[in-house]
Amino acid sequence: MRRILVADCEQEISSFNPLPSQYEDFTILRGGALFEAHADADSCVRGFRDVLGERTDFELVPVYGASACSAGPLSQQGFERLSRELLDAIEAAMTPDVAAIYLSMHGAMGAISELDPEGSILEQVRARIGPDIPIVISLDLHGLLTDRMLSNCDAIAVYHTYPHNDFTSTGQRAARLMEAILDRGARPVMARIFIPALVRGPELITATGLYGRIIDRAKEMETRGEALSAAVLIGNPFTDAPELGSQSLVVTDNDPAKARRLAMELANAFWTHHAKMLAELVPLAGAIADAALQPGPVTFTDAADAPSSGASGDSNTILAGLVAAGYRGCAIMPIVDAPAARRAHEAGVGACIRVSLGGTIDPARFPPLALDVEVERLDDGEYTHEVTRIPAHAGPTAVLRHGNIRIVVISRAVFMMDRAIFLAHGLDPEAADIIVVKSPGAAVRYFTFASRNYVLDIPGATSANLPSLGHRVCPRPMFPLDENVAFHPKVELYPARLRPAA
Ligand SMILES: [Zn+2]
Repeated sequence: MRRILVADCEQEISSFNPLPSQYEDFTILRGGALFEAHADADSCVRGFRDVLGERTDFELVPVYGASACSAGPLSQQGFERLSRELLDAIEAAMTPDVAAIYLSMHGAMGAISELDPEGSILEQVRARIGPDIPIVISLDLHGLLTDRMLSNCDAIAVYHTYPHNDFTSTGQRAARLMEAILDRGARPVMARIFIPALVRGPELITATGLYGRIIDRAKEMETRGEALSAAVLIGNPFTDAPELGSQSLVVTDNDPAKARRLAMELANAFWTHHAKMLAELVPLAGAIADAALQPGPVTFTDAADAPSSGASGDSNTILAGLVAAGYRGCAIMPIVDAPAARRAHEAGVGACIRVSLGGTIDPARFPPLALDVEVERLDDGEYTHEVTRIPAHAGPTAVLRHGNIRIVVISRAVFMMDRAIFLAHGLDPEAADIIVVKSPGAAVRYFTFASRNYVLDIPGATSANLPSLGHRVCPRPMFPLDENVAFHPKVELYPARLRPAA
């Protein structure tokens, strides 16, 4: 029986988060543990198995999985250990009957000195297995597609939804790409076009926004059989790397002219609308004044400090703004601050202490704020996310009160994409006047009772105010970092020359 090796390696980083992530932040799954962990998950690995796991003529071999929460760039040592383990696991599983390899990836990893981790991994896999064994990968649409990645894999399936709800079906599409290659002898040719634009904001919501209409056309190319795979990747604007940008990608069966034409169609459609794909951000002082006039709770979206996008989580900007404004309403907010949590645990419930809050990780953006607080509650930071049911490990946690402001102080950044961080610590968001939500999209999805959502223009490693971030590595000129950016589409084909007939 022919074997297909399956591996998973995923993380999304913000280059602007000063705290590097480490090997220890990854959940490592070896061998069968990979399939066990994904058995009931909504994931690409699961989707790939849905399609190919049923086949009697193939055996799927789980090899290695490594995934971590979004964070700052991975330490170079951490990346080298991770990639060595992955490559060794693939090498150990290589037998003469291996027919193909599937790698589930994100595309927006970054290490301290290796700015293209996925490209590095694929290049090394290719070097170890030789030129003939097909490699199919799947990517997040926030992934950065690089020349090295495209040169060292055969075909790519990319998410079609944002907010992402097609993990499993993307894995299924990757499996169908694999079937096209292995069953029908398809010889994929990939055309990509680099688009010098970084985008962010509501038009990227695929169900309702302009980006979704372009993705609809990519989906149509796939369902009508015009292309084996089609996508527009918008990159992760926070992963500052040499090939950061937006890109169209079309994979056809040995038809470079068609791949070229369809990739051009998607790239031009995207460029036509790119300038509308930015967020409208509100100044903090205006939002605080306006919030007092609104009936019921409002949300303050702090997408600039969203751990789910790779930020540090230690922003105190909104807290400082509320204190400076003498805000009297009831506000609730999370903040990552391990020393403050430790001090609260030492002082005990009921103690009144003066603590420094915020800026423990990114003091340049968030000058620490000294505040008199009462310790209202202490927890161990172990709770379950409301929507995904994934456990959160936030470390020692304290609820601190300053006037009517309650601050959930956690020790480690965790996803803050639903209400769990409040509910798990005795705070009812519906009873608050202002709820600080450190996620780009959670407020409108999971705080639907709020009468208004203010998306704030404040500093942070994942700010939608992209020119504020200080990109140093990505290609220039780049919209919206530079003025008058022109688009001169150039198609790159992979492989550059047609493969000989099988
Ligand atoms: Zn994504």
